[in-house]
Amino acid sequence: MKSFAMALTCSFFCGVISLSAFAYGSDYNYKGVKYDELRFPHFIVYYDKSVSESYANKLGDMGERFYMDITEEFNLVRNEFWTWDNRAKIFVAKDKDAFKASFSCPAWSAACVDYARKEVFTYPDQANFDTILAHELTHIIFYEYIGNITVPLWFNEGVAVYIQENKADTKWFGNNFFVYLQRVIKDNQYIPFEEILGINAAGIDAKGNSYVNTFYIQAYSMVNFLVKKYGHDGFAYFLYKLRDSGDFKAAMMSSFEGLDTP
Ligand SMILES: [Zn+2]
Repeated sequence: MKSFAMALTCSFFCGVISLSAFAYGSDYNYKGVKYDELRFPHFIVYYDKSVSESYANKLGDMGERFYMDITEEFNLVRNEFWTWDNRAKIFVAKDKDAFKASFSCPAWSAACVDYARKEVFTYPDQANFDTILAHELTHIIFYEYIGNITVPLWFNEGVAVYIQENKADTKWFGNNFFVYLQRVIKDNQYIPFEEILGINAAGIDAKGNSYVNTFYIQAYSMVNFLVKKYGHDGFAYFLYKLRDSGDFKAAMMSSFEGLDTP
């Protein structure tokens, strides 16, 4: 989930991929609302009838690209492919109001995800939408990779923001990352370390937009630190150990030498 409003400049390559999509029909009923449907090799896009087919095509192409890119980033290889009945689903509401009314997403969010059902919920024409989709698909792929292991919210969101910033063509933070971070530190508006380690989804939903934005940028900063300090391969090894041990703290201790984990 993200609080920011964040487009893929579709290349010739995207155009080639979209040839593999086809309209499967219409009137798919989801909680009383009827959607048109476009099918891709690993995704099904259900879109409100007011949303253009070309926009739905763009989303499906984007999803196909991220499906490969996100998996390769930290070698998040899973046992099951997203094919046939196991495809991920992207639901696109008519607009922000319909999004809030139709889906169980936080009102402040641009999209949200049901990890286990591989469903992404959003609405059209948002700036930097490729960062949003990369973020939500990372949540699903990461969940599939580690299974039901509990990880802190800062880590879950930090990994999603790290991958969105590295895989999407547009950026949410971009060069503003350090500027924003320096400002919240200078203004004493940062979230204390002890607090961010323990905050959960309910805790985030109860806060205002400013706190939510600061939470995401600090979570990104913490994951970015681990990747930079211990290397890309070191971070991928940690994720492997996390899946293997099922214990977040134990995996940290065995992967990140010298790190003092609270
Ligand atoms: Zn998220």
